[in-house]
Amino acid sequence: MLQNLGSSSYWHETSRRVPGPALTGRHDVDVAIVGGGYTGLWTAYQLRKAEPSMKVAVIEREVIGFGASGRNGGFAMTLLDMSLAHLRRNHGDAAAKAAHDAVAASVEEMGQAIAENDIECEWKHGGLMVVATNRGQQQRVDRDLEAAEALGLDGFTRLSREKAQAEVHSPTYVGGLREEHCAVVHPAKLVRGLARVVEGMGVDVFEGTDIETIDESGGKLRVISPKGVMYADQVVLATNAWAIETPWFQKKVVPLYTYIAMTEPLTDEQWATVGWESHCGIEDKRNYVHYYRRTLDGRILWGGSDGIIPFRGRVSPRLDRNDKILERLTGTFRRTFPSSATCGSPTTGAAPWESPSTSCRSSGRSWRAGFTTASATTATASPPSHTGGKILRDKVLGKPSELTELCIVDSKEPGFPPEPLRWIGGGLTRRALLRQDAQFDENRGGGEMDPLLLRVMKKLG
Ligand SMILES: Cc1cc2nc3c(=O)[nH]c(=O)nc-3n(C[C@H](O)[C@H](O)[C@H](O)COP(=O)(O)OP(=O)(O)OC[C@H]3O[C@@H](n4cnc5c(N)ncnc54)[C@H](O)[C@@H]3O)c2cc1C
Repeated sequence: MLQNLGSSSYWHETSRRVPGPALTGRHDVDVAIVGGGYTGLWTAYQLRKAEPSMKVAVIEREVIGFGASGRNGGFAMTLLDMSLAHLRRNHGDAAAKAAHDAVAASVEEMGQAIAENDIECEWKHGGLMVVATNRGQQQRVDRDLEAAEALGLDGFTRLSREKAQAEVHSPTYVGGLREEHCAVVHPAKLVRGLARVVEGMGVDVFEGTDIETIDESGGKLRVISPKGVMYADQVVLATNAWAIETPWFQKKVVPLYTYIAMTEPLTDEQWATVGWESHCGIEDKRNYVHYYRRTLDGRILWGGSDGIIPFRGRVSPRLDRNDKILERLTGTFRRTFPSSATCGSPTTGAAPWESPSTSCRSSGRSWRAGFTTASATTATASPPSHTGGKILRDKVLGKPSELTELCIVDSKEPGFPPEPLRWIGGGLTRRALLRQDAQFDENRGGGEMDPLLLRVMKKLG
């Protein structure tokens, strides 16, 4: 039978961590980082590398990797904005190329940092295959390839139907593209390995510590938890979906629940019907994208299909399960790989993920008027959170750089409308996007997003 795993997940179960101490008493640091995911830990890593004597602490409410960093699809890829074509259209050629190159460099640097620091996290640099499963999706692939060519990006190749199906034997593919700058990884092993590395570099990591308030006292920022207080010159807020709990972010982000499922290990015979020797990550070009990858122990992770926006942005473990979405994921999995349909029962897990009010992320922004030394970030994916760590390093050190000038930094977000408009608008947008995906599946409609829908989305955020 199909199972839901709620807040626990295959990734957590295969990367156990004994949580570090909670914050008690008084601590004084140069930089306090709130949030023990990729963004917080890469920021700590970059800061200590740049300034080995700097006192840096990371504070996590639960356990390292509790958030999306420990429960995601494990793709390390270059995606910014909804697609490369959108990035180009929204920011212009020069800015889009600079942002793409920075994130592509992050994929390579993540691989180097993992190797140099012996982080055992099943990193496999097999590239990304973007597949089209209908005509509308193929038009989107074509536009991304046009964008890659116009920007002069390396590592993009067109795939015919035959080439795509030869690599991974799904009858649903009508064409696609391949991008070389992509790896897959065990996300929880990565984030927990990174915590071990920063601890080794002298960063204090506190877990089971809920930061309730941040205020100012005696010229310092005061980071307050139930049993301890940290005084810091600067604070980096790296709380992703939970940023909604911070007043400054309330209009800027909407938590979005997105779901993944995992099969049991496939047998050698089943793998022979699937192919997929390269271990590349795969995604299609739906609005609610399907993404899937192999694990080293022979499973297939299957994610996407739909997402849930909670009313009033309330993040709750209750939303970590969703049987309807699991059913949908299972259906598309079986259509994609009909010959491996006996490969067992996918189990699901989910995590909240922040959805910014613009599709491109703002990072390194001043957190609150008056607190010019405080920075905040939420990052839309793992390589952007590595890039975000470098951006925050430069911001915290007060050293403007090419990175702090990227179009993904300090972007002007229009802000979401208040509730209940936000929830209603979010629901309508979701339904319209799903309807368009269904129309494409019936080979109706073009690759462009419905102009009316685009206007509504603009109005909403
Ligand atoms: C199901 C799913 C699949 C995904 N797949 C991919 C993928 O394949 N590739 C990819 O690149 N990206 C993927 N993403 C996105 C990616 O996981 C996130 O963008 C990334 O992990 C964000 O990292 P983060 O450190 O900013 O946030 P998180 O990992 O969410 O970390 C935030 C942390 O802050 C802590 N926190 C919150 N409030 C407080 C507080 N008050 N006090 C102390 N601590 C607090 C939380 O407990 C949490 O651990 C996926 C996301 C989801 C949900």
